[in-house]
Amino acid sequence: MALIVQKYGGTSVGDVDRIKNVAQRVKETYDAGNQVVVVVSARSGVTNELIGRAKALNPQPDEREMDMLLTVGEQETIALTAMALHAIGVPAVSRTGTQAGILTDPSHTRARITSISGGDIQQQLAAGKVVILAGFQGYSAEGQITTLGRGGSDLSAIAIAAALKADLCQICTDVDGVYTADPRLVPDAKKLDEISYEEMLELASSGSKVMQNRAVEFAQKFNVVFEVRSSFNNNPGTIVKEEVASMEDVVVSGVALDKNQAKIVVSDLPDRPGTAAKLFQVLGSAGISVDMIVQNLGRDGKANMTFTVPREDIYRAEKAVTESFPDEAAGKLFEASDIAKVSVVGVGMRSHSGVAATLFEALAKGSVNIQLISTSEIKISVGIDPEEAEEATRLVHAAFGLGQLPA
Ligand code: ADP
Ligand code: ASP
Ligand code: MG
Repeated sequence: MALIVQKYGGTSVGDVDRIKNVAQRVKETYDAGNQVVVVVSARSGVTNELIGRAKALNPQPDEREMDMLLTVGEQETIALTAMALHAIGVPAVSRTGTQAGILTDPSHTRARITSISGGDIQQQLAAGKVVILAGFQGYSAEGQITTLGRGGSDLSAIAIAAALKADLCQICTDVDGVYTADPRLVPDAKKLDEISYEEMLELASSGSKVMQNRAVEFAQKFNVVFEVRSSFNNNPGTIVKEEVASMEDVVVSGVALDKNQAKIVVSDLPDRPGTAAKLFQVLGSAGISVDMIVQNLGRDGKANMTFTVPREDIYRAEKAVTESFPDEAAGKLFEASDIAKVSVVGVGMRSHSGVAATLFEALAKGSVNIQLISTSEIKISVGIDPEEAEEATRLVHAAFGLGQLPA
């Protein structure tokens, strides 16, 4: 008998028939003699719909009330999934994040998990029940409902698997696993049999929606090996685990596209020690994560700072910057425009050279202009025009031969 955590995403529980499909799959796992904890997301579209309603009433809704609102989506699906299991004779019980003792810090809409007691989950499992846990939610020490950031049901699944010391953690979704690029965008993308935490983290942080980046970070920290696989077939998925030596033989494992970035230019800053420190400290305190950074020296001892932020953070960034540099704010201090980021990721970059050249050459051949570049040990990203981004992703994928991998 094994303890298995299965997470089903929004599309997988998107309507009544899909919830029946999930219940059937859970029943098969349960009937095989396993203990099963099922983590579910809200039905696909529900979280976005709720955000839309909130913003129609108030463009900057209170974050505590947002969490109160958004957790409704998962609360619907835990109850429906439990009912669907009851209908096919499987004893099941639903639990909210609070009931499962998923304690977080008080940062509404992006809370971090601080501890997990599990509530009575172990007792329920021991009593032969399947436990259905609401993804994406927790509670703070102040007793408030919190959420774990978009895509946070992945984190709920990994975290509960770690807390319960599960034997298996399966992230069941609407694709067969982690591919060399988003298969909806790049038709010849190939499914990977395995990928390291580090690569998965870089892909997730660079826009590959298949896993939430914080979930991968948590898995790496607590060494939770997990599998990304389909909710709709039984094909083997992708195992995400600690790096093994052979992984370095592959130079580039995947290409990611993030279309939700904004490029910000803060101009006419004083060119003296401490300016960059102040600017990025201000952005950091506002909870804004900055990615690519370029500083240009202008004339008259002034500097321009260009960087990227998630598009949803533009207004908070503008407020933080203009409030902190009031003297400079008279001019055209702050300009924001949309930008897309294409990234290539691979642990093999540590030991192979020429990756940047191949990437830039592929973009040059496609007449794609590069606006920004950033690199890390296992990733190279370029900021480009969003209009060209999808084609550029396909060009880059082809340039690294990723469509040619054995199927
Ligand atoms: P869920 O609702 O199950 O959490 P998501 O929509 O969050 O599913 O993530 C799955 C989607 O991620 C896929 O439908 C696919 O379009 C997208 N995706 C982006 N990059 C990749 C990739 N490298 N491999 C697989 N899927 C990817
Ligand atoms: N429902 C939440 C979201 O859409 C969490 C999740 O689906 O993982 O972001
Ligand atoms: Mg998801």
